Amino acid sequence: MAEINRAVKGTNDILPDESHNWQFVEGKMLEVASLYGFKEIRVPVFEHTEVFLRSVGDTTDVVQKEMYTFDDKGGRSITLRPELTAGVIRSAIEKGIVNSALPAKVCYIGGCYRYEKPQAGRLREFHQFGVECMGAAEPSADAEVIALGRQVLSSVGIEKISLEINSIGCPECRKEYHKALKEYFSANIDELCGTCKERLDRNPMRILDCKSPVCSAIAEKAPVVLDYLCDNCKEHFEQVKAHLTAQGIEYTVNPHIVRGLDYYTRTVFEFVSGDIGAQSTVCGGGRYDGLISQMGGPSVPSLGFGMGIERLMLVLKNQGAELPDAPTTDIYIATMGEKAKLKATALCAELRAEGYKAQTDICARGLKAQMKYADKIGTKFTVVLGDDEIENGKAGLKDMKEGTVTEIKLDELVLELGEAIREQIFKNIAEII
Ligand code: ATP
Ligand code: MG
Repeated sequence: MAEINRAVKGTNDILPDESHNWQFVEGKMLEVASLYGFKEIRVPVFEHTEVFLRSVGDTTDVVQKEMYTFDDKGGRSITLRPELTAGVIRSAIEKGIVNSALPAKVCYIGGCYRYEKPQAGRLREFHQFGVECMGAAEPSADAEVIALGRQVLSSVGIEKISLEINSIGCPECRKEYHKALKEYFSANIDELCGTCKERLDRNPMRILDCKSPVCSAIAEKAPVVLDYLCDNCKEHFEQVKAHLTAQGIEYTVNPHIVRGLDYYTRTVFEFVSGDIGAQSTVCGGGRYDGLISQMGGPSVPSLGFGMGIERLMLVLKNQGAELPDAPTTDIYIATMGEKAKLKATALCAELRAEGYKAQTDICARGLKAQMKYADKIGTKFTVVLGDDEIENGKAGLKDMKEGTVTEIKLDELVLELGEAIREQIFKNIAEII
């Protein structure tokens, strides 16, 4: 197939027959976020490359291997966002959100771009829902953000998913830990991949997140950061757990979670599904107390998470979750002759103004072809208009499911259709009960 007819590798189209599922899921995300006081923020798809170098970290896989970076015509280095936290924090500093009433709670939905090897659950363009809670240092904030993630998942019908948490400490307790890691990995340096050999000196924790099978096998036996936490970080972690338990949220402590981005401190967490294969992390997040000051803002302890929407969709599909039906047309007005066509145009306008989904022929088709189309789009009702109907001002309103026809006055079509739809709904409910 010619390139012009082919999507770029690693990208995905969300087709008209599935977009209502995305609208449902995204609607739930924003709805649940607002229960916790989070308001939506929309930031650009691209930023100055420096924004990501400073935040995500220049020894991470994301920065070293996965960014879509280019010079624009003005000679600026621009990067398509690989995640949204960096851009959101840039905006929060630039627009003064971090100096406003704290905690400032924002959420987002948007596309992310990473040059990765495409496979199930791993795309080059994917979408994230996420939240950032800025200016809250307390462990109860960590538990609140985790609870929000949990509620988003359950609101779309996902109950079977596990929460794994860990603490990766603060820069203070990490000093000792880095020393221990360096010692451990130095003993295995010959086996590490090229990238990790370089990471050993600058950021040994990144080796723990390396995807190469050899590095991850070595990393499995590495010292764990939980054993090196300072008293404050230990206490913080204990309190996070207590606040989770207080609201009935189950978790397991997984000392191997470090997350793929450099900015995390203390609490990190993941929601992991056993139903979607190797790319099993649906949501990842944590605390980033140093990020805002590192990016030139005030010292504002913060935290957040990013949830992969494609992976979440995979979980829903693989768990056979119930999703809302695709929206259908309420009424299709089939026509015969010019007069009927004009009348149908007027009736559709009236119906649509009242909030009904109405369609009529716009392809100059014969009656048979119109009815075939009406059937294909799954309309609830049809009306056929010809010269007789226009003259008498009456027509038959056909219930496509039942096959029954009710005679109605064309002047009262809006009222009659409303009544018929309500009747259908009651009947459906009665059938379910
Ligand atoms: P992974 O370990 O799978 O590479 P990550 O640590 O790179 O994930 P984050 O940067 O924390 O992921 O992003 C948060 C979420 O975004 C992930 O948990 C996942 O659901 C989703 N995600 C990340 N990268 C991709 C991708 N390439 N394709 C689809 N979803 C992704
Ligand atoms: Mg990754």
